[in-house]
Amino acid sequence: MHLIQRTAGLTAVAVLWATSALAQGYPERQITMVVPFAAGGPTDTVGRLIAERMSEDLGQQILVENVGGAGGTLGAQQVADAEADGYTILLHHIGMATAPTLYRNLAFDPVADFAPVGLVTEVPMTIVARADFEPADAASFIQYVKDNADTVTMANAGIGAASHLCGMLFMQAVDAPIVTVPYRGTGPAMTELVGGQIDIMCDQTTNTTEQIKGGTIKAYAVTTPERLDILPDLPTVAEAGLPGMEVSVWHGIYAPAGTPQEAIDRLSTALQTALADPDVASQLGELGTAPSPAEDATPTALQAKLSGEIERWRPVIEEAGVYAD
Ligand code: ASP
Repeated sequence: MHLIQRTAGLTAVAVLWATSALAQGYPERQITMVVPFAAGGPTDTVGRLIAERMSEDLGQQILVENVGGAGGTLGAQQVADAEADGYTILLHHIGMATAPTLYRNLAFDPVADFAPVGLVTEVPMTIVARADFEPADAASFIQYVKDNADTVTMANAGIGAASHLCGMLFMQAVDAPIVTVPYRGTGPAMTELVGGQIDIMCDQTTNTTEQIKGGTIKAYAVTTPERLDILPDLPTVAEAGLPGMEVSVWHGIYAPAGTPQEAIDRLSTALQTALADPDVASQLGELGTAPSPAEDATPTALQAKLSGEIERWRPVIEEAGVYAD
């Protein structure tokens, strides 16, 4: 008994020592940021933008690793299983909140298995189509999709992706099941949309704005309650006759649960510094979004957002009855 107490005491001292050593030196080497979708897509764009500015503040490079597949759950799983030492982090979006309902056998718990760092940004989505898609406006688009639901193809980044969630809301709104084609991310899906191999997609403005402005794809609606300054001619989903489709893709940074608090705090400060950079704000602004305010770039704010969004989307997904298994 005495020996056990003594051993436990020594372990506690060792943990304390390791923690304070970490506090002094963290980060001492490169950090890996897992983005759970393919390179060249909207989550990747946000990840790389923020990783670059955080690296400057941390004095160590944050290297982005794209781990696409299964609607973002493969990448999240990799971080949940990683060593909780502050050197592996995850940049994920709203999919963290929909995965626990969509995947009834999910091997990780988005709340219990992660330590939140902070919110990054909220990005609107747009309903888009290949440039030569027949319908000219939102009303004829909706009618066309209803009439041709068995032949229209819709891209998404797998079950659990924001594009999947938006597609699910769209199918509910038009009351028609559409053939969906999953990709490892909407970066590769966009290439096929531009190439005309796929008909339609719902994707973040971070991926679609340039293509819409350049005329390489068509856009029918934006999923925000108000129109966007950068795409003023694009109707909102409510204006387009698609009520209940409002959705915005919030992004957050997470570390594995058990990561020392000092590392979480340091990452959170670096995130706040990155988001306060006017250059970051202007780059995000050009893509139809804005950095999260400093008070949201905190563990508490992300924790609250994640828990609230899990509850918000559960009944919606259950009503749709679409599951990954
Ligand atoms: N936009 C994708 C999604 O649907 C993810 C991505 O490729 O960034 O979640």
